[in-house]
Amino acid sequence: MTDCPEEERCLHVLEVILDDESTLDEEQEYFAHIEQCWTCYQNYNLEKAIRELIKTKIEKKPVPDTLLKSIKLEIEKLTIE
Ligand SMILES: [Zn+2]
Repeated sequence: MTDCPEEERCLHVLEVILDDESTLDEEQEYFAHIEQCWTCYQNYNLEKAIRELIKTKIEKKPVPDTLLKSIKLEIEKLTIE
């Protein structure tokens, strides 16, 4: 397991992307990066799942089981490493 040399920068770009405030260039660069960077790929999935969960709660929709499971799985993966 290799750590991302630019994890902090990647996390920042990730937030911008998830806030829909990114440029196309940033997005393209980021998605090309996470295809090769396991650390950032996991961060991306986890952040996305958490945001979906928050959105679901705000809209008072029932949280789908699959979403909860995938979040738990991601968190477990992170704590095991
Ligand atoms: Zn990375």
